[in-house]
Amino acid sequence: MAAHDAGRDAAHDARRDAGPDAGPDAARDAAGAGRAGPISAGIVGGGIGGLTAALSLLRRGIEVHVYEQAQALGEVGAGVQVSPNAARVLHGLGLADELARTGVKPVAWHQRRWDDGRTLLRSPLAEPLEATFGFPHYQMHRADLLAALAGEVPAGRVHLGHRLTGLTDHGDRVEARFANGASVEVDLLVGADGIRSLVREELFGPEHPRFTGCAAYRGLVPAERLNALGLEVTSQVWMGPGRHFVHYFVSGGRLVNFVAVIEQSTWTRESWTDRGSVADALAAFAGWHPQVRAIIEAVDETFIWALFDRAPLERWSAGRVTLLGDACHPMLPFMAQGAAQAIEDGATLAACLAACPSVAGVPDVAAALRRYEMARIPRASRLQSMSATNKTRFHLPDGSEQRERDARMAAGATDWSFDAVAWIYEHDATVVQPEPDATLA
Ligand SMILES: Cc1cc2nc3c(=O)[nH]c(=O)nc-3n(C[C@H](O)[C@H](O)[C@H](O)COP(=O)(O)OP(=O)(O)OC[C@H]3O[C@@H](n4cnc5c(N)ncnc54)[C@H](O)[C@@H]3O)c2cc1C
Repeated sequence: MAAHDAGRDAAHDARRDAGPDAGPDAARDAAGAGRAGPISAGIVGGGIGGLTAALSLLRRGIEVHVYEQAQALGEVGAGVQVSPNAARVLHGLGLADELARTGVKPVAWHQRRWDDGRTLLRSPLAEPLEATFGFPHYQMHRADLLAALAGEVPAGRVHLGHRLTGLTDHGDRVEARFANGASVEVDLLVGADGIRSLVREELFGPEHPRFTGCAAYRGLVPAERLNALGLEVTSQVWMGPGRHFVHYFVSGGRLVNFVAVIEQSTWTRESWTDRGSVADALAAFAGWHPQVRAIIEAVDETFIWALFDRAPLERWSAGRVTLLGDACHPMLPFMAQGAAQAIEDGATLAACLAACPSVAGVPDVAAALRRYEMARIPRASRLQSMSATNKTRFHLPDGSEQRERDARMAAGATDWSFDAVAWIYEHDATVVQPEPDATLA
């Protein structure tokens, strides 16, 4: 994983006092497990999901510590779109100024045809979106987002170099054990440990993520190299046979992020991410519109990611342990909602714990976790399947189905038109809203 230095620098406050030197005893004492007082939570994983959850829980008076396996907080050198539903949560956590400083607000989604660049759909973002949903849509460098989150986490709350190796739910508390010999006991444990989650495996058994048949080249290009293209401040998605290409500005407009998705039948490399060749990326987009090719040509280096996902889960929690983010709902990035849903998870988890019922004066953590998953599973699962469907829709070969799709897009009948995204963008994850179709017992 290519960590980005900006993330490291700005995350220093969270890191400085929270390395392995904080030690298991410090963590155990701070967690206050099993004693009267606030609920204590351990979060495994210090990614976008884990840090958002930590801040959300802290703001609700819950004792939180984050355990991250890496020696420094870091994110891949790539972009992430933060839609209004996620921006609502982040603004509520006090990040509005930082997002405004480092993020870019696009004026529109612009979906275009791969060869001639014809507009297939153009949906307004910026002012109309903010007026309707109350919060902006940001395009961000992932390291800027992680740094903004880390900058709000008080010192001593993030324990680096803590790789979870096992957990035991004792009924009245959960014990988490780490590779460095540390262990902690908490009232609840949250697995925010990504698509290869160990917490998920401990809860529900081993099951491998599935290769989706897609891989993505990602790159960041200094914006001044692309001046001649006169790029609009839009999020552009170019759709063509068997592949698509996305680009947008990040880092206050200084960089253009691109994601170039191709289909391939297998992924044979051991790693999920690898340095890619610019020449291979260009070859994969041979014959595409000159703007697409010019952006790829301008990049110094590119990385290629295998895209994996998993089927929706029926449960995210067992006893005092639960999951959030990619640990429970990894999805193809074709709705740009993976991180947004992880952000929502943290907010809803905090709201459920704040309203945690008590039995004989003892917080019924398991009941709060049940409420959390009931609120979250229908929504996240729906987005998981919509994201998978977009693979087919984005990648249609030219022909009758593609013409039908284009006609539907022109009529505003697809899932990125303004009306169609309303249910995603208007959602307030900071209050518990069980979906009407939540059927979990
Ligand atoms: C090409 C691409 C483009 C995307 N674009 C968007 C977008 O525009 N908008 C959007 O909302 N989403 C997007 N996503 C999805 C988004 O990146 C993910 O959904 C999101 O980053 C998941 O965050 P997370 O915190 O759940 O997991 P992760 O970011 O994977 O974090 C997990 C953390 O847990 C740590 N960890 C793992 N195991 C252990 C262990 N045993 N002990 C301790 N720590 C551990 C890891 O080191 C890591 O820090 C995109 C994804 C891809 C691949």
